[in-house]
Amino acid sequence: MRKDLELDTLAIHAGQSPDPQTGAVMPPIHLSSTFAQQGPGQHRGFEYSRTDNPTRRTLEQCVAALEGGQQGIAFASGSAASAALLGTLAPGDHVVVCDDVYGGTYRLMDKVFAPLGIEWSRVDMTELRTVEAAIKPNTKLLWVETPTNPLLKLVDIKTLGWLAGTHGIRLIVDNTFATPVLQRPLLLGAHAVVHSSTKYLNGHSDVVGGIVITDDEELARRLRFLQNAVGAVPSPFDCYLVLRGLKTLPVRMRRHCETAHALAIFLDSHPRVARVHYPGLPTHPQHALTGRQMTLPGGMITCELRGGLPAARAVLSSTELFVCAESLGGVESLIEHPATMTHASVPADARAALGISDGLIRLSVGLEAEVDLRHDLEQALG
Ligand SMILES: *Cc1c(COP(=O)(O)O)cnc(C)c1O
Repeated sequence: MRKDLELDTLAIHAGQSPDPQTGAVMPPIHLSSTFAQQGPGQHRGFEYSRTDNPTRRTLEQCVAALEGGQQGIAFASGSAASAALLGTLAPGDHVVVCDDVYGGTYRLMDKVFAPLGIEWSRVDMTELRTVEAAIKPNTKLLWVETPTNPLLKLVDIKTLGWLAGTHGIRLIVDNTFATPVLQRPLLLGAHAVVHSSTKYLNGHSDVVGGIVITDDEELARRLRFLQNAVGAVPSPFDCYLVLRGLKTLPVRMRRHCETAHALAIFLDSHPRVARVHYPGLPTHPQHALTGRQMTLPGGMITCELRGGLPAARAVLSSTELFVCAESLGGVESLIEHPATMTHASVPADARAALGISDGLIRLSVGLEAEVDLRHDLEQALG
């Protein structure tokens, strides 16, 4: 397939062509756990589904093409994908992580890999000097999320890709919040992209999955080894669902962003709202970087309510369309309270240092009509 196709086209066609045997236009779901061999060791590329599976391979090729990369390695969850990346390290290696990294990634570093001898530092990655100062002789990875969660700070991928290059280390970007529709980190100098496909890639809140994309042959080889050896692989049915979701990813992302932008402006002018964090607002501290790095500012909004915890509780229990739940990136709108939900495992003093106050709420703006979502927020804030 041509490499210069637009994302909208790749989302539908990359890795997929009509089935040569039946002409089926949609790729079949290959549930088989094992594959017939003509003789011992003579197979047609598939032996056993933990090692490789045709439906999984199609998904891996499709997401790799969307990210502008060569290799996709799919996992049973975003956390399993992150764990595989960290599993390529050896005791004594060091990782620099952005300060408001996803809570589950924090937990992986803190409770799983630190006890195995992997060192890590958490720093504010919006300043190049801070990141540079955190790099040590044993640093192997820079681990970035952008926009960050829940404060939607942006990290300059191109600059950090350059920094990683000068130190001979790898830059990993968790692209879950942005998706390749809004930013393609590999094209900006990242060495690998990791996704929780549970979120926007699948987009329908009915799959838990993860994937890593890289052009780095050595890294891909080790990740494929871990994919097979550890076996945290997605089921063929889940791979099919994500492939199906991907077909509408570009269309969905444009609509998520359009509605989120309108709601961010509405919230910004609401008297009960003290501050709105949204990369598309001119008041966002890195608004200029949004324009350089992202095609659109995203479907997530975080805002600080006047009135702290009681105000947050009141709003979260009064919305009717926005469902109070963790997660994000689905067709339906969700609302959550980081301090008591997604970021409850971050100690209170660390939360305070990050700016995750008790009045902070996070919205995942879905695909419902903007006017209905606005009325829902209006009545809940009232
Ligand atoms: C959800 C999420 C993860 C973890 O993914 P799971 O599929 O839940 O394991 C990692 N990073 C980010 C940014 C996420 O939002």
